[in-house]
Amino acid sequence: MITESLYHQVIADTPALKVVAAVAQQMETPTYVVGGFVRDLILGRKLKDIDIVCVGSGIQLAKTIGESIGAKPVVHKNFGTAALKIEGEEVEFVGARKESYRSNSRKPIVEDGNLADDQNRRDFTINALAISLNKDDFGQLLDPFGGMQSLEDKLIQTPLAPDETFSDDPLRIMRAIRFASQLSFDIEADTFNAIKEMKGRLEIVSQERITDELNKIILSPKPSYGFKLLFHSGVLAHVFPEMVKLQGVKVIDGKAHKDNFYHTLQVLDNVSEVTNDLWLRWAAILHDIAKPATQRFHKKAGWTFHGHEDLGARWVPRIFKQLKLPLNDKMKYVQKLVRLHLRPIALVSEKVTESAVRRLLFEAGDDIEDLMKLCKADITSKDHNRVRRYLSNFKKVEEKMIEVEEKDHLRNFKLPVTGELIMETFEIKPSRVVGDIKNEIKEAILEGTIENDYDQAFQLMLDLGQKRGLSRSGN
Ligand code: ATP
Ligand code: MG
Repeated sequence: MITESLYHQVIADTPALKVVAAVAQQMETPTYVVGGFVRDLILGRKLKDIDIVCVGSGIQLAKTIGESIGAKPVVHKNFGTAALKIEGEEVEFVGARKESYRSNSRKPIVEDGNLADDQNRRDFTINALAISLNKDDFGQLLDPFGGMQSLEDKLIQTPLAPDETFSDDPLRIMRAIRFASQLSFDIEADTFNAIKEMKGRLEIVSQERITDELNKIILSPKPSYGFKLLFHSGVLAHVFPEMVKLQGVKVIDGKAHKDNFYHTLQVLDNVSEVTNDLWLRWAAILHDIAKPATQRFHKKAGWTFHGHEDLGARWVPRIFKQLKLPLNDKMKYVQKLVRLHLRPIALVSEKVTESAVRRLLFEAGDDIEDLMKLCKADITSKDHNRVRRYLSNFKKVEEKMIEVEEKDHLRNFKLPVTGELIMETFEIKPSRVVGDIKNEIKEAILEGTIENDYDQAFQLMLDLGQKRGLSRSGN
């Protein structure tokens, strides 16, 4: 956290705010910086877009500032807001307002109000802080709800009664957990209880907005924390019930399996230490999603989850659709990582053969590094020695992989002979035999019987054709 004199100075030195303050003072419109910018400024976090609230018309203020800098604001008349780029910063303007809610909608009834009314309508005390840009009290912090104290205590709490706050706009339930996870804050007890009580109200919120918040939780520094809050509040059961099914341990004949929920969270945290990529993090969340459905107990072998990687991969499109995540190549990428997530570790326990490495490189293609990150993150155990042993064997697999890739270039493998060439050479029409020959050539390369090389592949093609009684054209 930074001191008062320091943030006073940052406000005075931020070029965009200088412009806003100058015009607002000329217009004699009381104007304040508010919300996330003030919170992040005081916390010393990286600053993003700036929110400005004025007592009067936010649109008019934006237009007048626009005239002074030769730019036009983007106006959203329905919301009474306007956005303008000033000195390279995105600045959003709104007139101070009072909001009241009806029970069946997130859309409030809006009236003009003063600064206090506007601070009242904000979701959390840490988001209700404002700093004046006015002449007589420039740089003064206006903190009617003890937002500063909440920042010091690292607490998420609502300015007004929490159940009302969440009932009015249930998206705030997701936002509370999202801010807690992003900032590593606790959620104040009454606020958390209200989340538990009001979680059913999330049904009036669109899936897109819920998923936006979920993605922000996933992208926070230690996402397991956000997921534990989602789980313990019962929110997870509403927004992503499939994940809740991972939780729990069954014991038969004294044999227990891992709790797959906490294991998944550990893998998610592990992977988050080495990547900020949302989709690799999603792959971690989904890698064991089909374990509950494939779980069996065998008298000798104990618990098994055969085929959970394939079934899980098959579930990915349905889960993406439910969560309104994009159904594009990102989904395919997640699917692929889920499907292949056991493959590198399987190489650890076997003697690492070149052909197994070749096959994996061929299937993973450019996603091999990400797959290795996921697989490494998946090595979790309470037994530290065991983890260490696994990781050191895993290193051998990685080394072997680099060696094979340098030699064979299989990552973007294209068969050196094509179906067309096979058809031309033997003067045959498209048929099953073309596919068979192609497949045998591919297998030979992956097995290492021939190299990934045109001449060798061509020769093998001739041999395979001859074996099938085909003769080369012109012969
Ligand atoms: P970030 O931009 O990092 O997500 P932020 O706090 O700026 O965080 P925004 O969604 O940009 O969040 O909203 C800006 C401000 O508007 C918030 O700080 C808060 O004061 C207010 N706000 C946003 N959404 C809500 C809401 N659903 N209910 C009440 N106030 C809200
Ligand atoms: Mg913001």
